[in-house]
Amino acid sequence: MSEQEKNSPKAEPVRKATLAEHGPSLPIGILDQSGQYRREVALRPWKFKQEKALGALLGDEFNLVQYVEAAVGEMCTRLGPHSFEAMKPEERTVVLSQMWMADVFFVYLLIRVRSLGNLISLKLACPHCGARFDHTADLDTVEIQSVERVEDAQWEYDVRRPFEIRGKTAEKLLIGPPRWSSLAQIPGDIRNFGDLKEGIALGSIREIEGHGQMVLVAGELDEMEKEDIELLPREIDKRSVGPDMSVEGVCKSCRKDYTVAIEWGNRDFFAPSSR
Ligand SMILES: [Zn+2]
Repeated sequence: MSEQEKNSPKAEPVRKATLAEHGPSLPIGILDQSGQYRREVALRPWKFKQEKALGALLGDEFNLVQYVEAAVGEMCTRLGPHSFEAMKPEERTVVLSQMWMADVFFVYLLIRVRSLGNLISLKLACPHCGARFDHTADLDTVEIQSVERVEDAQWEYDVRRPFEIRGKTAEKLLIGPPRWSSLAQIPGDIRNFGDLKEGIALGSIREIEGHGQMVLVAGELDEMEKEDIELLPREIDKRSVGPDMSVEGVCKSCRKDYTVAIEWGNRDFFAPSSR
């Protein structure tokens, strides 16, 4: 962490706007060589060439991380300071791995809206009574949370049951947006966003108070106890930047308010009628 980052305030406001208001701009951004955040996103149209390249990844071996990377690689002509078109696939992979997860998912959402439009039909289940119903969501109204600098998205978490990491007791954690690369260390095939939770928790811990900055790898949170296992991901979710992919409404069966996540982690996200 640089001196500048250390001295920056921790609780700056996070801006909120709908996707339509926010426009094609990365929620955090990529630093260019002069240290400025660059946020431009330019996409090409999704044509048969892209359909064939991406369709090849939709088999039984479907892996969400690979698919998102391929979609961003195929569709982006510009990402922040990078002219994506002019880059080799390996170079694009390096750029992606260093990007913020929030920015990558934002581009993925933008690709869906640009290629298929803003409406997506969903089959939802009420979290209270289990009633199933159809719902058409308007992706243009998805709330995008963005920051001026990544430090504005950092916050502190008080560990409820202090636990050991590398022989040291973790009591307070500095949490911030994870990089895309923190997904790469999750073992196995990632098919949905539930699988991503450990990777997101690992990638979100930037510092352990008193022990400085740490880049954690899989297994290093094994001593964390249940209370924190439940609470930390919930807090990370609540304070995360990028697109907030949830739908709110009132259940027609039980009349209770519901909030349900849009299932954008499955292969149907790019079907005109998503399940
Ligand atoms: Zn209900």
